Amino acid sequence: MYEKSEVLFKRAQQFIPGGVNSPVRAFKAVGGTPVFFERAEGSVLYDADGNSYIDYVGSWGPMLLGHAWPPVVKAVQDAAARSTSFGAPTELEIELAELIQQMVPGLDKVRMVNSGTEACMSAIRVARGYTERDKIIKFEGNYHGHGDSFLIKAGSGAMTFGTPSSPGVTKGTAQDTLTANFNDIEDVKRLFAENKGQVAALIIEPIAGNMGCVPPADGFLQGLRDICTAEGAILIFDEVMCGFRVAPGGAQQLYGVQADLVTFGKIIGAGLPVGAYGGKEEIMNVVSPVGPVYQAGTLSGNPLAMSAGLALLSELHKNPSVYEELEHKTAHLEEWLHRVFKHHEITHSFNRVGSMLGIFFCEGPVTDFESCAKTDVEFFGKFFHGMLKRGVYLPPSAFESLFLSNAITQVQLDHTVNAADETVEELI
Ligand code: PLP
Repeated sequence: MYEKSEVLFKRAQQFIPGGVNSPVRAFKAVGGTPVFFERAEGSVLYDADGNSYIDYVGSWGPMLLGHAWPPVVKAVQDAAARSTSFGAPTELEIELAELIQQMVPGLDKVRMVNSGTEACMSAIRVARGYTERDKIIKFEGNYHGHGDSFLIKAGSGAMTFGTPSSPGVTKGTAQDTLTANFNDIEDVKRLFAENKGQVAALIIEPIAGNMGCVPPADGFLQGLRDICTAEGAILIFDEVMCGFRVAPGGAQQLYGVQADLVTFGKIIGAGLPVGAYGGKEEIMNVVSPVGPVYQAGTLSGNPLAMSAGLALLSELHKNPSVYEELEHKTAHLEEWLHRVFKHHEITHSFNRVGSMLGIFFCEGPVTDFESCAKTDVEFFGKFFHGMLKRGVYLPPSAFESLFLSNAITQVQLDHTVNAADETVEELI
């Protein structure tokens, strides 16, 4: 069934570390051979062996309206025909920055970069430059990309491999990263008190997607807002995953809490490599060439990425009913998976915000790193493979959220529920 993928994986391992360009793709967490894909359309993936799958990964988030969505394809083709890169300003960058500002509350200025990692690294540097302080606070189980400062208790990828911190990150860097328990305001207060006047920024995934899906407890984000204001620290919302996914204005809009800086990635490039960070003018004015904090990029504001992002965000801006449809579809999936697991007496718990769904094979509620780490990883691996052979592609890690695309149909949702029923029947 996966012969070509197996051959490709062996070949890939000769030339690429572990055969993959991002660790979670290697299927280490679930075992077996990673599937090599050839093409995709809407919510269906096609692999090298000709198998097809209903996609619940969506390239880890960007494919909100499905793969090869025609306006994105056309926008990229048109842009490529005019040049793949100028390394100089274009109108497209202004248009995308303007649209992001219209959709997301509180952004005076936006800077384009090439990935979510870059966006978060840059936001931290800006916060440090602005406050003239060194330390940052992040949350256990949150992932903000592979920048050195973030690889401390860092969520899915690191959890999957059992290495919460990474060799290669210096002790000095690690000392400047303080970690708090997610959803635990007292722990945050403790860190601020122990590091009085030293904390430049607090960075958070407002909806943690890198330990399954863990929403913020009522009042938690507002609590962080209040503490950061009182302590003179910059509040950074990492909306790389949840930006434009849970609402047109992301988590800030959904929870009514305003950050000082916000980072983006994934959806704003519709599948092309892109990231962005933005915030209040006063803070963003420290960025070069206006201010002294250096941050640059040969391909930043790349015309293909800008065009793809514009096509997708314009649609979301025009047509916010997409979010209601996604809510409806994902709630349906959650409800029916719950029925299947309950029927077969499988211990489980779900967390969901809009089209982000976390499946945990443990008792709920899952509210932080510790509770999420209780999920039965071995059972998840078996469940993953049972679903895969029935044509359903789930994230290949127990610590990742599912991402639905609005291209998914009722028939595909029904197929998924039946596949779950058969899989669980087979496993127990
Ligand atoms: N922040 C969050 C919340 C993410 O989920 C990710 C990636 O999954 C990143 C940052 C890093 O983004 P990228 O992989 O584009 O560097």
